[in-house]
Amino acid sequence: MTRANELLKIRELLQRRRREILSANLGAHRELTSLKDQERDPEYEENAQAELADYTLSSLMEAQRREIMLIDAALRRMDMGVFGDCVDCGYEIPIERLEVLPFAIRCEEDATRHELETRGGPSATPSL
Ligand SMILES: [Zn+2]
Repeated sequence: MTRANELLKIRELLQRRRREILSANLGAHRELTSLKDQERDPEYEENAQAELADYTLSSLMEAQRREIMLIDAALRRMDMGVFGDCVDCGYEIPIERLEVLPFAIRCEEDATRHELETRGGPSATPSL
């Protein structure tokens, strides 16, 4: 299989994942909303229940929103024709790495270096 075909496969995977998140989100939303409607009651415990449903929904959506953003960024990079190229050295990221980490924008070497550089943050003492 050529690299272009492999990239196409990853694109389809990302698009499918995107649809899955969106439909799961919709399902969860309906479920939690109906739960809230059933238990609409002035009693304290029911209110707590509704609050919990709100919390579950927003935290669930937060994680999924983040994943959708990563997927969209990857799809945009595909549209621009730069997906799979390391943003630091410009060389192609091995397909094996992209299959495991489809959101990777750096080759393994540069990702490790980047992580080391950013871990300490701007307050890290520069080495002379
Ligand atoms: Zn690189």
